[in-house]
Amino acid sequence: MDYETQRRLICELGRRMWERGWVASNDGNLSRRLGEGLFLVTPAGVSKGFLTTDMPVVVDSEGRVVESSGAYLPSSETPLHLECYRRRRDVGGICHAHPPASTAFACARKALDASILGEALMVLGPVPCAPYARTGTPALSAAAGPLLDDHDAVLLANHGAVTLGLDLEQAYWRMETLEHTAQICLGVRLLGGGVPLTDEQCAQLRRS
Ligand SMILES: [Zn+2]
Repeated sequence: MDYETQRRLICELGRRMWERGWVASNDGNLSRRLGEGLFLVTPAGVSKGFLTTDMPVVVDSEGRVVESSGAYLPSSETPLHLECYRRRRDVGGICHAHPPASTAFACARKALDASILGEALMVLGPVPCAPYARTGTPALSAAAGPLLDDHDAVLLANHGAVTLGLDLEQAYWRMETLEHTAQICLGVRLLGGGVPLTDEQCAQLRRS
């Protein structure tokens, strides 16, 4: 994928996040690994619904700006993204948003039990909730980092969610599955609780 196409994709996925109501105002951020220790991240202070291809910022592995058109600065959550890339060499893209149902679980500090839904188990696996840490601080990276070693989707207490993918599109799709699953889980709880899949059924799904 060429450089301009990568910029177009990050704008397109930002627009989808905003249209789906996963972010309000200037919330949320997206990034992708460019190779050679560089990363393309969404800018701070811009609605994800109205990104243009000149806005994403190129940073190095320490978060220093390498390339930026205009006065755009990288997202304040860039350190969390860089922590993910440091820990997971397989990750090529990251999505962070505040989707309402997923964030409700995060505010209740309840992990999302994917064993209620086969599709979620296959796409996400268990989704833990990281301890609370203030947004945009190194403490958030420290709180979520260890969980991101073994999970592709993690809730951030009293904040939102982060999903990882081999590329940015996969990270985005995982956020979509996460929010869909959270909405279903809320409905299941309203109905008095669901019937979880058995350990054997879960194991079969993980193998498929
Ligand atoms: Zn956030």
